[in-house]
Amino acid sequence: MTQLGHFIDGRMVSDDGRSQEVFNPATGDVSKTVPLASKETVETAIAAAQAAYPAWRDTPVAKRARVMFNFKQLLEENSEKLAALIGEEHGKICHDAAGEIQRGIENVEYACAAPELLKGEFSKNSGPGIDTWSEFQPLGVVAGITPFNFPVMVPLWMFPMAIVCGNCFILKPSERDPSAPMFLAELLHEAGLPEGVFNVVNGDKEAVDTLINDKRVEAISFVGSTAIAEQIYASASANGKRCQALGGAKNHAIIMPDADMDNTVNQLLGAAFGSSGERCMALSVAVAVGEDAANRFMTKMEAAMKDLKFGPYTDNSNNFGPLITKAHLEKVTGYIDSAENDGATIVVDGRNVSLSGHENGYFFGATLVDHVTTEMQSYKEEIFGPVLQVMRVDTMQEAMDIIDAHEYGNGTCIFTRDGEAARYFTDNIKVGMVGVNVPLPVPVSYHSFGGWKRSIFGDLHAYGPDAVRFYTKRKTITQRWPSAGVREGAVFSMPS
Ligand code: NAD
Repeated sequence: MTQLGHFIDGRMVSDDGRSQEVFNPATGDVSKTVPLASKETVETAIAAAQAAYPAWRDTPVAKRARVMFNFKQLLEENSEKLAALIGEEHGKICHDAAGEIQRGIENVEYACAAPELLKGEFSKNSGPGIDTWSEFQPLGVVAGITPFNFPVMVPLWMFPMAIVCGNCFILKPSERDPSAPMFLAELLHEAGLPEGVFNVVNGDKEAVDTLINDKRVEAISFVGSTAIAEQIYASASANGKRCQALGGAKNHAIIMPDADMDNTVNQLLGAAFGSSGERCMALSVAVAVGEDAANRFMTKMEAAMKDLKFGPYTDNSNNFGPLITKAHLEKVTGYIDSAENDGATIVVDGRNVSLSGHENGYFFGATLVDHVTTEMQSYKEEIFGPVLQVMRVDTMQEAMDIIDAHEYGNGTCIFTRDGEAARYFTDNIKVGMVGVNVPLPVPVSYHSFGGWKRSIFGDLHAYGPDAVRFYTKRKTITQRWPSAGVREGAVFSMPS
């Protein structure tokens, strides 16, 4: 049985302390064990990062960016191996993992622009003989804590930009699929990153608490569920750290009566069931405006779902794979049971499916639920499974009010041919990432990613321009070189 370790100070470090099993979710078999770092192990990583910081901070930004160029190339060369590591532990199908890796690489590409992004701001002659400039200095040692559902892409939202800005980084990936993040550490090392600049500690709450409580860690980026995000934001902030904590979601699509229904159904199939719905941007609620639109949508969606195929990650003809754990399979099943008990109609039922040869895998079939209302538990909470719930309303405003009232505000979308309606929607909806006929409006790498309301804690969003600001602190310098021999008297009024 392979026992993983940590990546500290440029090498793999074994750990025979506490550990946890890593499962192949398509079979239910244990494939590896992952150590759960002790406080002392995390402190070793922090010390390594701190020791590496002065030299890395003073390395010219173009040289730091060059490491990222090498890293990008290595990611591309090793993308199949990375996709397999994701598939073995997360379960997502190879084509889906390839998409995740590509979106991650785009963040590395953006980080390669650091010499341009960190140029700062300069004002000549801001006073007589005075020049003023602002520069963006690194913070020091920063940490990232990431979820299971994007074991490559979400770490790549964080550390390429943090590192290229001159920080040293400690990644605490999900303990459920740690192999792909560990491989990223190897590739960064191969790309020429000095020892200690990037470290991976595997672990659970003990590792996270150590990062949050240690004074040497300047900032925390977190992505995961809302309950933990809120907790981490509160304790990191109380410890004086800069923190961004992205949480869970419930993403709605409004289906207008004039929508191209075939296109809408195709878009929602991928957005609701792709990756088994284990995406923070998964479209999990469709709000149909008018009975006629709702009925047309349901007929076409039910028919289209007959062709959906789930199975192991190795078969690229599968649309989606298993859920991440047995416990999560039971949780998703519980949500459908509760929807049924609450009076919703289970139109397509994915509970209790079995796949020949994979009887112990954590598979859940695509599920369609109609007549869902705002009081239902399955509506209020994030299900994180291949489940599309449908609500029926009379007007677009009613649909928007429902979305605005939900505690989460990550992503949303409207399907329509009406430009005026779309413009009203994008202007007024209280959600951070909005699509018009685009069901997964995940911003490209040169814009930033983040929801509103309880889908985020903190001011700055992930990646893109906000990441440059998050991983640097502004310093503004005002400078004058008086001519030799010029003597001035003291000035007691505010300089103007
Ligand atoms: P999770 O909150 O269980 O875990 C996230 C990270 O926090 C992991 O590294 C985990 O080890 C750590 N953690 C878990 N419990 C902890 C505790 N008590 N104290 C300290 N650390 C703890 O989330 P998950 O199940 O891995 O991921 C799924 C969730 O992440 C979903 O809610 C999804 O919506 C969300 N997510 C959000 C975004 C976004 O950008 N908003 C992106 C991806 C995933």
